[in-house]
Amino acid sequence: MKLPSVGKVSVAAWIIISWHYPCKVDLALGYGEGLTRDRVGVQDFVLLDSHTSETAFLNNLRKRYQENLIYTYIGTLLVSVNPYKELDIYTVTQMQLYRGVNFFELPPHLYAIADNAYRVMCSEYNNHFILISGESGAGKTEASKKILQYYAVTCPTTEQLQIVRDRLLLSNPVLEAFGNAKTLRNDNSSRFGKYMDIQFDFKGEPVGGHILSYLIEKSRVVHQNHGERNFHIFYQLLEGGDKDLLCWLGLERNPQKYAYLIQGRCAKVFSINDKNDWKIVRKAFSIIDFTEKDIEHLFGIVASVLHLGNIQFEEDSNGHAIIRDGTQIKWISKVSRSSQIVSILQVLSPLNVDLAFYARDAVAKAIYGRTFTWLVNKINSSLANKDSTRKTVIGLLDIYGFEVLDTNSFEQFCINYCNEKLQQLLIEMTLKAEQEEYELEGIEWEPIPYFNNKIICDLVEQKHKGIISILDEECLRPGEATDLSFLEKLEEKVGDHAHFVTRKLADQKTRKSIDWVDFRLLHYAGEVTYCAVGSFSLTLFQVLCNSKNGIIRDCFLLSELDNRRRPETVATQFKNSLMSLIEILMSKEPSYVRCIKPNENKEPGKFDDYLIRHQVKYLGLMEHLRVRRAGFAYRRKYELFLQRYKSLCPATWPHWHGPAAEGVERLIKHIGYKPEEYKLGRTKIFIRFPKTLFATEDAFEF
Ligand code: ATP
Ligand code: MG
Repeated sequence: MKLPSVGKVSVAAWIIISWHYPCKVDLALGYGEGLTRDRVGVQDFVLLDSHTSETAFLNNLRKRYQENLIYTYIGTLLVSVNPYKELDIYTVTQMQLYRGVNFFELPPHLYAIADNAYRVMCSEYNNHFILISGESGAGKTEASKKILQYYAVTCPTTEQLQIVRDRLLLSNPVLEAFGNAKTLRNDNSSRFGKYMDIQFDFKGEPVGGHILSYLIEKSRVVHQNHGERNFHIFYQLLEGGDKDLLCWLGLERNPQKYAYLIQGRCAKVFSINDKNDWKIVRKAFSIIDFTEKDIEHLFGIVASVLHLGNIQFEEDSNGHAIIRDGTQIKWISKVSRSSQIVSILQVLSPLNVDLAFYARDAVAKAIYGRTFTWLVNKINSSLANKDSTRKTVIGLLDIYGFEVLDTNSFEQFCINYCNEKLQQLLIEMTLKAEQEEYELEGIEWEPIPYFNNKIICDLVEQKHKGIISILDEECLRPGEATDLSFLEKLEEKVGDHAHFVTRKLADQKTRKSIDWVDFRLLHYAGEVTYCAVGSFSLTLFQVLCNSKNGIIRDCFLLSELDNRRRPETVATQFKNSLMSLIEILMSKEPSYVRCIKPNENKEPGKFDDYLIRHQVKYLGLMEHLRVRRAGFAYRRKYELFLQRYKSLCPATWPHWHGPAAEGVERLIKHIGYKPEEYKLGRTKIFIRFPKTLFATEDAFEF
């Protein structure tokens, strides 16, 4: 009998080669000759010498990185260091090498993670997710694309399903065009969080997908820091759009003509080919089933945003803002096919000039944000599988890493809160679950102390007492709330929390009338100071929300403050979407990829010890390693284990009628497991080393 997951490589041979001389396996994969273990380190941190320090961890990572071995395991978690250069390890040949081969049989690779999740999904018919995390520029998006490509190439598919495969792949360039931008840290930085389910039918064929997006960075539409760009799509359209299209949209090819595109002073980026990317996006649209009308509508909006940014206001004799020149308005009403935007702008007149500019930008942000949501929905309907038979899924989560900038605004607050939640999930799903499981199974376990960041999550999200609740409460006090009153409330309610620090930076005289105050949180990854100014712009919202014009009310109330029963801030909306994401993840089997950024200069081969040590710390890698080393590499329910291996023992084949635990005991006695290789728990067998399991799998081969 032969089960599908047995690899072609002789497992026994692999154990000898790879564990003792990892270089040989690396050689087989074309990593180069003359590599010794001293040079390339170990491919699983679990195999490091017994006393594992952060320095030993770093040394191993550095050795491997310098040999272009960017992947290393901690048990089943994959650590990846961005090579910042093209490596020859993503070819179809490589994909086929990893296909159907047991996890530890080949050198660490994303493909091994992808293949393992897929095989377990097919054999146990359960759902999985792969959480890819790391800071900006660490390689999360590249990793998630490589995993998707792996499935596209290696999963069985029919001609009919080819289109699903293409749509899954091509959803990426579209979402990246609208959701990614050049930042100082990454030329293709994702400015939204993305969770994508790939759905498989019972034959393991990809049959559909679904995308959830999180918190698109709308502020980028109207403001970019020096050295950064707006979202790619604006430049792609100007650079790649044909003459007729630009003419119809009233746009000029030169990005310097648009106020929303010139602030970063870097419209042209060496590593980005906007013209080419435009072609890819246009092609993707047709595959994803966008009609010409959809496309017209979409670019009408993109163009409207650019026109909006060029609108200038001046003061009339009553101190009210009036639009200086009507040209933009004309274009907007033509290309957006919407009288709505125009009406909004026309009733801005009672505002003063500053407020009118602010309102203009708010309109641009709201429009772009809604368009992005529309785009995701549109892609989802093209990926949807209408067939109601049961499907299993593998979810790919590519979500922003912990972020500390010079000025940290509300957006960083949300991003870092998200990272706290995901770190908590990792803790719950691996560290804590591991300990609890051993205890539950009655297996001896020495507890390993770890930092549980629930305390920080509570500080942010707890009902009534958490920072987000305080923000909501302030929103209920129309007319009275300000940034300062919000901060005072914070101090009053959470001032003595161990992870909260307030600090008044304000020098009221030099800062004029602005209440320039910060608050500081001690995150698990380090301290971050948040600037509260602007995160609480309710006063202005109220001006706009109280407008007599229904359209303005729609635009602002609906997107930012809707929910008549109780106003909800963007923070609360984000918190809720994060909660449901966590719920989605908790119901699935996890795999983790931790991405590390090797240096700040996007330079190949440069391993910045200080920067990497910091990431190793806040990605929780040492903690994870400690637990993995103390534990067992593999565990399975007796029933599943027996079902899989019963053919190896005459007493259990073809049927075992007694309790599964006894069957397993008979089975492993027959195979000849040594006592130090395994432990029997209440409901599961625990196997200490992967090699024991490989030998068992190997038995199918011969
Ligand atoms: P952000 O949080 O800003 O979106 P990210 O973690 O998604 O960052 P990526 O966009 O995946 O980062 O990677 C940044 C850049 O690093 C890529 O554009 C690419 O140039 C390079 N890179 C990342 N991973 C790899 C890889 N495996 N091989 C070669 N280059 C890579
Ligand atoms: Mg990214």
